Amino acid sequence: MIRFFAKYRHLITAVVAFVFIGAMVYFGVRMNRLRDMDVQSETYAGTAMGTALKKTIYAEDINQSDQVNKQIDDCIGSLEKQISIRIADSEISKCNANYAVDGIYPLSPNVLKYLKREIQISEETDGAYSPCIRPLVDVWKIEEHGNVVPEPNAIEDALKAVNTDDVEVVDTGVILHGENMALDFGASGKGIACDEVAELLKNTQVQGAVISIGGSILAYGNKGDNKDWHIGIQDPRDKDGEVVGIIDTEGNKIISTSGDYEKYFEQDGKRYHHILDPATGYPADNGLISVTVVSSSGIDSDILSTACFVMGLENGLKYVQEKGAEAIFITAQKKIYVTDGLRKKFRLKADGYELVK
Ligand code: ADP
Ligand code: MG
Repeated sequence: MIRFFAKYRHLITAVVAFVFIGAMVYFGVRMNRLRDMDVQSETYAGTAMGTALKKTIYAEDINQSDQVNKQIDDCIGSLEKQISIRIADSEISKCNANYAVDGIYPLSPNVLKYLKREIQISEETDGAYSPCIRPLVDVWKIEEHGNVVPEPNAIEDALKAVNTDDVEVVDTGVILHGENMALDFGASGKGIACDEVAELLKNTQVQGAVISIGGSILAYGNKGDNKDWHIGIQDPRDKDGEVVGIIDTEGNKIISTSGDYEKYFEQDGKRYHHILDPATGYPADNGLISVTVVSSSGIDSDILSTACFVMGLENGLKYVQEKGAEAIFITAQKKIYVTDGLRKKFRLKADGYELVK
């Protein structure tokens, strides 16, 4: 017997090793499959913040997804009660309607935190982004399907009330130093909602989720496979839902896109869209048609996509990188500029565009 082992020891070792490795591979694959099977996705469509809300939730079972779906709706609902100008008795609506020039108007700490960030970015962008743009938005009425260019004096009047220096945050509230002013979270609210939903998801058993609120998309966790998410970017010159390209991203990122195709009208062959340049009072007109910003902060990604759209290609690219975010800029000539960190993660899909290296 001993002699038998001695004689065939190499063969026996080989067979044992083979069986052992085979078993490891088999169980490894099975474990992985089981892990994948544990996670299933559920999709919920609706509206919130005046735009489409779509949630795809990857969880162990549908009960868990349903429960988290409701929690997300509640979370966005209570945020809207704070910042939405569509809700007449939201904190911001009440502030806009009732503030006294130079007096402190009380706001909740949450709203003040966001307002502070907005003011900071407004200052850093020389006012390209403004937290008090509302009077100008009201004159253009683009959201209400306005379709005429306002009179120049109406624009001038509105601009007198759009000055970020007149917005001051103190411990207990905000001081607005001018008349007819109005705060507007239109370019930041969806990103803020992504941040709050991400916080909420951290306290659930949900494995992964993709939550899209208008132009902002939260990619949270993963599908249970530790792989990147693939997020489509709207083709700014094609039908809704057609993508210009795809970003591969790890979880816990927010991807926001601002473009001249969302809400606009045309007059005398010129397009007038909803992203306004506080320096001119007119829609930003610098050759950009779309800006996408990827950041681990939702408020930053939303604000920066709007701010960079107003700043233009050169200044916008520089600023977004200073802020540690990644971005994709698309020009009217259909040239696409991508920051270094995204270069390997963006795949162009649409014809007629050129990826500039
Ligand atoms: P979307 O609403 O399509 O996600 P944005 O995030 O770019 O697009 O937000 C556009 C909204 O932001 C406008 O409808 C308006 O309310 C507001 N807005 C427009 N221009 C500016 C600006 N320069 N600074 C701050 N807010 C702006
Ligand atoms: Mg925005």
